[in-house]
Amino acid sequence: MQGKTLFLYNTAHRSKERFEPLHDPVSLYCCGPTVYNYAHIGNLRTYIFEDVLKRTLVALGYNVRHIINITDVGHLTSDEDTGEDKMEKGAKREGGSVWDIAVHFTQTFMHDIALLNILPPDKWPKATDHIPQMIDLVEKLEGHGFTYKTSDGIYFDTAKFPSYAAFAGLDTENLRAGERVEMGEKRSVTDFALWKFSPKEEKRQMEWESPWGIGFPGWHIECSAMSLAYLPQPIDIHCGGADHIRVHHTNEIAQAEAATGKTFVRYWLHGEFLVFEKGKMAKSGDHFITMATLRQKDIAPLAYRMFCYTAHYRTPLSFSWDALAASAQSLTNLRRVIGSLSSQSKASSPSVLQIASALDPFYTAVADDLNMPRAVAALWDIVRNESLDAHLRRVCAEQADNVLGLELGRMPAETVQTVVGADGATMRLECTTCIPLDICDKLTAILSERRRARREKDYTAADRIRQKLGAAGIIVKDQPDGSTTISIPAGICTDDDKKALIFMD
Ligand code: AMP
Ligand code: ZN
Repeated sequence: MQGKTLFLYNTAHRSKERFEPLHDPVSLYCCGPTVYNYAHIGNLRTYIFEDVLKRTLVALGYNVRHIINITDVGHLTSDEDTGEDKMEKGAKREGGSVWDIAVHFTQTFMHDIALLNILPPDKWPKATDHIPQMIDLVEKLEGHGFTYKTSDGIYFDTAKFPSYAAFAGLDTENLRAGERVEMGEKRSVTDFALWKFSPKEEKRQMEWESPWGIGFPGWHIECSAMSLAYLPQPIDIHCGGADHIRVHHTNEIAQAEAATGKTFVRYWLHGEFLVFEKGKMAKSGDHFITMATLRQKDIAPLAYRMFCYTAHYRTPLSFSWDALAASAQSLTNLRRVIGSLSSQSKASSPSVLQIASALDPFYTAVADDLNMPRAVAALWDIVRNESLDAHLRRVCAEQADNVLGLELGRMPAETVQTVVGADGATMRLECTTCIPLDICDKLTAILSERRRARREKDYTAADRIRQKLGAAGIIVKDQPDGSTTISIPAGICTDDDKKALIFMD
């Protein structure tokens, strides 16, 4: 893909622009999760889009420095700086300390993105680890005359930042006309909290000393402080969901530029929402779909990634179980076709030029503001194109997968199969390339036995079984998430290739 020009839609200018970074590595900041609950698949759609962006930059030959923050304090339930801190609310719901809740949901988030084959960032800064940097930024703003104090905090005075409304195209006159209860002591409806004082009547679990009194940072100052702590200004790219445009990113720009006097970010990219039954999917609602929900329904995580490619990232994507099932099937079909290519070809390795030429329509779609529906269609055209050598088609699929992240290149050697042992004695085996899976009862029994041994923490017995399987060429690997991957050599399953089984507890 090297040599292609990348075009990205820049929210700041409402236009598709040629991407020309200032920095090497390209600096990329993505607003991270508020860790008061599980991420829902809507949140994860945004991280998939950002991962495609990062993979595209890498495929283009750029080095990338990627930051995703963890919001573990200060994100209030209302954008108007009123309401409860989502973290404190989450702790009450779960009955644990805020600190424990933050650790727990940070871990589940990292696990979710690993399942979706989202590449981890270079750094995961936590808001609670950066309070001094936030205080420093607020002091700068205070020094430049952009702040005022009310009885509940230190606020940014948006009237002092004349271009405040420009980024989101806000109609501030109308907003002012609508000023109501939410205003409190704020001078303008668009003013926002930089530092909130701890309520007098309530002991917060997370609070810090500051020059203005005990309290906690506003959500927006967190992202400005953390992005500037790890990336050179102006940052090349800053991303988030489309809901961040109007308030969070508008405020980030105002405070960062007012404090530093420099452009904050050059390219702003926003992913549209996953919508669900006529509305958006929200973490605060009672019903929301998580990676665990998909697992309960035996839907592979990468089927959801494939589903996300059915719409452009700047288009709302409507969720339905039927549409997700269709994407799961389409991923299976794509893998099958790619898998079959390895046995068809007798040709020698294709040249770099042949690969680049065959992949051109795929890369053109990707470079056109990450048009993944078109890119996937282009890949289908390539793998089905019988005028191209099968080996070339397979290599193209492997390279395209560096951007797609669908684990196409490892198929069918690692055909993902689910082995669910309800009690360790029974197992349901599914295979995406040879249904029904013709796996011998003996192997099933051995795998059940090992699973039982692990459950009972009889690791000596489990290890003995692993070694026994290893001697027969069956490689057993226990994964950190509690699943076990088992690669089975040819001859044991009906297909000729190696198989992999994912064994979930
Ligand atoms: P949060 O954890 O709520 O701070 O959100 C994490 C990311 O998910 C942010 O970039 C949000 O803009 C994004 N987001 C929230 N809801 C959705 C949704 N329904 N679809 C897509 N992205 C979303
Ligand atoms: Zn942010």
